[in-house]
Amino acid sequence: MNYVREVANPFTGKTSTAWSRRQLLLFGWFPFFHRKQITLNGARFRVIRRGKSKRRYLVIHGDEQTARQVLETFMATHDGVAFLIESNTRNVSINGGELDPNRMFSTEGAELNLKMLNPGWSYPQVEIALSVLDHHRDHLVNALLPPKRGVLVALHNNSEDYSVKDEVPISDSISLKQPDNPHAFFLCTDPKDYAALSQSPYNVVLQQKKPQQDDGSLSRLAAREGVRYVNLEVQKGDANRQAEMLAWLDKNLA
Ligand SMILES: [Zn+2]
Repeated sequence: MNYVREVANPFTGKTSTAWSRRQLLLFGWFPFFHRKQITLNGARFRVIRRGKSKRRYLVIHGDEQTARQVLETFMATHDGVAFLIESNTRNVSINGGELDPNRMFSTEGAELNLKMLNPGWSYPQVEIALSVLDHHRDHLVNALLPPKRGVLVALHNNSEDYSVKDEVPISDSISLKQPDNPHAFFLCTDPKDYAALSQSPYNVVLQQKKPQQDDGSLSRLAAREGVRYVNLEVQKGDANRQAEMLAWLDKNLA
């Protein structure tokens, strides 16, 4: 079958090639254009695409099942591209060792994390793992980061040992509407998003300026690159609250 048509321009009389709608639809399903997975060493992400949208969503920690469930449900009715890590554990494997996938976005941060999680590793083992990450990082980052003026929303779940209180001292602006509920909060990198999110009934912090130490997290990378990024944190198991906050964000963010 021939899906390509020659189309004459009514003004110039010149012909050009046009793609039929059927052909475009067929191409849309080619894995080259729409990959279902993206990988950086042991960190493999399932990709869900729906409609046309500049929204990007991410679950990066495999043990944060509440976030995974909330995002999967959300994507059934909302447009965007979602990345969900294919793992049941927080850390992923790399060269026989372990790595927190949200510490792999800078050499500096990954080095600290690899040394902490793999105390038995020699200096060359750390160096080899770092060079693997340095070599392939851009491929993943380019896939995860939103197009211009788009926003990336990362869903996380925390436990007793982490809350907005840990972020307050290193944040540029703070709005704590629910101080008694410190585990549920937004962390964003864009002042306009902060202005919008601080109108919500939820806790929000802004971290725009580059901090002293780069911990290798995606939020630091986004802040450095001037990319709109929002972390949406709730306590593990608090799916209703996370779904509610995600819906609020989706409705009210530009
Ligand atoms: Zn997390």
